[in-house]
Amino acid sequence: MNSLFHTNQPSSPPSPLRVLPTPEARPKVLEYLSASRLKCWQTCRRQFYFRYVERIKTPTAPALFIGQQVHEILKLHNWSRWKDEPFDPEWLKSELDDSWEDGLAADHISWKAAGDEAKAKEQAWAMLEAYFEESPVPPSENPEGVEVEVECHLDSFDIRLIGIIDLVRPRGLIVDYKTAARAPSSSAGPQQHATQLSCYALLFRESTGMQESGFELHYLIKTKQPKILVTSLGPMSEQLQSELFQLIDDYLEGISAEAWIPSPGQHCSWCDHQTACLRMSGL
Ligand code: SF4
Repeated sequence: MNSLFHTNQPSSPPSPLRVLPTPEARPKVLEYLSASRLKCWQTCRRQFYFRYVERIKTPTAPALFIGQQVHEILKLHNWSRWKDEPFDPEWLKSELDDSWEDGLAADHISWKAAGDEAKAKEQAWAMLEAYFEESPVPPSENPEGVEVEVECHLDSFDIRLIGIIDLVRPRGLIVDYKTAARAPSSSAGPQQHATQLSCYALLFRESTGMQESGFELHYLIKTKQPKILVTSLGPMSEQLQSELFQLIDDYLEGISAEAWIPSPGQHCSWCDHQTACLRMSGL
């Protein structure tokens, strides 16, 4: 410890120097990496600043809330398959009711009109029912992992990478659930989620010492009549891994330089920080 901190010795003359707190070895934002942090960085560095540096809380968008609730029930569904329990839709429906109420109590959801919340709940259950009917995962299949929390240390960057994988099917097939307003095109889905899937591949390889056999994106589409779409992908390619490492390099350098450069685009229309961003730019 620095001798300046030994202030409890009455014989010592008072120090003319003000004792300052030890500076943080690393800012909090550099404590760990995650797919959502990297994705936000890719979308807009200034949005990243508001969300992860300033930690400005914003109301949860209804679409995000619905997605969280659907994920919760899919997690329970997978856990019960893992434990070889029979499929019980009534139990899952009552779990949705409870989880929904808990979520409403814990969060501020930005519903637009009266009645939106009830419609959203119906929509969430309709998507789940469609998934239970059309899921490509056979009811008898035992998952290798459900809601797997994984973490590894990226030595070359000296930072931890953390993530939660929704489902690992036999032979290391990684599944990620997506709720979406409309079906993505065949190329948009994989491209949009490449960073996230590459992070999961790194985490899976580090945790198991094996290569994943591939990925499946299971989309639950919020159309009037909900649809299920599955996009299958092979394991992470060397090119994707190299792009991920370049992104991490850029991320770490950008944060150290505090380069909160705005990236204006269509995504600004649904950015929670647009007002603050315009103010910051003097617009
Ligand atoms: S309004 Fe646009 S440019 Fe500004 S922080 Fe949000 S996404 Fe970035």
